Amino acid sequence: MKRFTDSDLSPEILKAIAELGFEKPTPIQAKTIPHLLSSNQDIIATAQTGTGKTAAFGLPSIHLTEIKNKYPQTLVLCPTRELCVQISKDIASYAKFIDGLNVVPIYGGAGVDQQLRALRKGAHIVVGTPGRTKDMVRRKKLTLANIERVILDEADEMLTMGFKEDMEDILAQTPKDKQTLLFSATMSKKIIAITQQYMNNPIEMSVAKVNMGADNLKHLLYMVQAKDRYEVLKRIADMNPNIYGITFCRTRRETKDIANKLMHDGYNADAIHGDLSQAQRDEVMGRFRKRQLQMLVATDVAARGLDVNDLTHVINYNLPDESEIYVHRSGRTGRAGKSGISIAITHTREMYKIKDIEKKARIKFSRELVPSGKDICQKQLLSLIDKIKKVEVDNYQIEQFLPEIYEKLESLDRENLIKHFVSAEFNRFLAYYKNARDINVKSNMPKERGSKNKRERQSRGERRRTPFSSFYINVGSKNNLNPNRLMGLINEGLRSGDAVIGKIEIMKKFSFFELEESKKSLLIKNLNGMDFEGVPLSVELASEKPITSRTNSNDDDSSRKRGRGNRGRDRKRGQKNPSGNWRGKKSGSKKRKKPE
Ligand code: ADP
Ligand code: MG
Repeated sequence: MKRFTDSDLSPEILKAIAELGFEKPTPIQAKTIPHLLSSNQDIIATAQTGTGKTAAFGLPSIHLTEIKNKYPQTLVLCPTRELCVQISKDIASYAKFIDGLNVVPIYGGAGVDQQLRALRKGAHIVVGTPGRTKDMVRRKKLTLANIERVILDEADEMLTMGFKEDMEDILAQTPKDKQTLLFSATMSKKIIAITQQYMNNPIEMSVAKVNMGADNLKHLLYMVQAKDRYEVLKRIADMNPNIYGITFCRTRRETKDIANKLMHDGYNADAIHGDLSQAQRDEVMGRFRKRQLQMLVATDVAARGLDVNDLTHVINYNLPDESEIYVHRSGRTGRAGKSGISIAITHTREMYKIKDIEKKARIKFSRELVPSGKDICQKQLLSLIDKIKKVEVDNYQIEQFLPEIYEKLESLDRENLIKHFVSAEFNRFLAYYKNARDINVKSNMPKERGSKNKRERQSRGERRRTPFSSFYINVGSKNNLNPNRLMGLINEGLRSGDAVIGKIEIMKKFSFFELEESKKSLLIKNLNGMDFEGVPLSVELASEKPITSRTNSNDDDSSRKRGRGNRGRDRKRGQKNPSGNWRGKKSGSKKRKKPE
């Protein structure tokens, strides 16, 4: 079947799907539709998320419905309420031009009255979650005696969610000679075993994975330490102001955690997971669909089957244990020829998972560097400028205020005016990122190409070879010292701006920093006795050994920056140890709020 018109589907159905813009059947539809229209043999169909499975079983079910028989003929079971609502809506839309065909969703967590009324009116196709369906059957509100086909959609997920017994009970109430159809994105041996006793010589249909590795879907990976995962997520969001994506976590708890942090930090995010009430889930999904939410944090189960289009990003906050799940996650973006990005946030110990996914899914990850604070600021600034350029100016409304404004701004020339406007909007962003660390883990980087990267590599190497000395200075955060000001002080002391400065740790009453060894005497000589916020400075060598040789090797290169830059590192406050022995203390960055 190459076109829908090659099949026996009724003109009403063809008209409805043409209106929906379905031009030709998807591969799974091409396989299952002709079979379902002509044979009663059971089917086990496997096809990735987003490949049109609903229409694959929905269209033939509609076609085969005898409208005049006012009893349920098709039963679709699916794992979640969202999916239940979505499937019934989809089927109803395919049946739009068929008078009198009733599709009824029944699911838990919502009042039964309306569902009962709908059933009484005569449902032809019932779409239900196992729990509520079983309930309705038990209460004799739903008879399955005349069911002709049962569809188990996302069957394995129903098992995972503990619906095994409900499913078995329901299936036991259906006629022996019905057709049983199993549709799923993944098919475990377990589900096949369980349904085997209800299935009769099923034919297996699966379609080759589509989309994977296609040009429009890019797989990126960032390698960081586990503790930096969240920071990466934020940077991804900040680097993509128009992000519309799902972040997958492994557990409900992690899902909640991450979503809460994102919300707290001012992002447009929320979570969907099994602990939410149905009403809450509806509410979250509704906002996400309307794009009032930009980032949905979800567990695999909660997000399974949900049809949300045009995602820009799928983010694997944690990689799943099975490569197949990665495929399903990433298949949610880059659909229908649109471009999409699937990102894996990983650490070095997970390389085996990456390799496994690459091999099994036949895709290739490209390892990228986590955007730096500078990259992000640049991106955000340009997007701000675009916004300013594009903004609609209501001449009439603002006219009355303009004279006074012009007068107030008189002293600023064009250049300064621009600086002021941009800063007003942007300062808090800059403040957050000015001390941003490079959180990339350096090992296992693929060979970099291109002169720019080479230069970067060389300069990294240069810095790595630079011998450092560690210093103690008698001012800290209490004196309004921050890494930026400390760098200013050092540069002032050295009367230059090109010293290589290493780690910086700002404590409450004192601080530590590293500086290239060759500038040691000059700095001590010039800085001692200088005034900082009313305090005469005292600078001395903190210890013989530079910090780098005493701390975690993963960190040392990453936080060393050229002196001129704004970056440095802020350590946990309140560590009292002026001898400079702050080894082993966990570094923690100060909580900073992202600007809104
Ligand atoms: P699955 O159940 O396999 O995850 P869905 O049935 O939810 O996929 O379909 C995914 C999306 O593809 C839906 O928006 C649906 O309307 C659309 N779709 C389904 N079949 C076709 C088709 N033949 N042509 C174009 N779009 C289709
Ligand atoms: Mg589906």
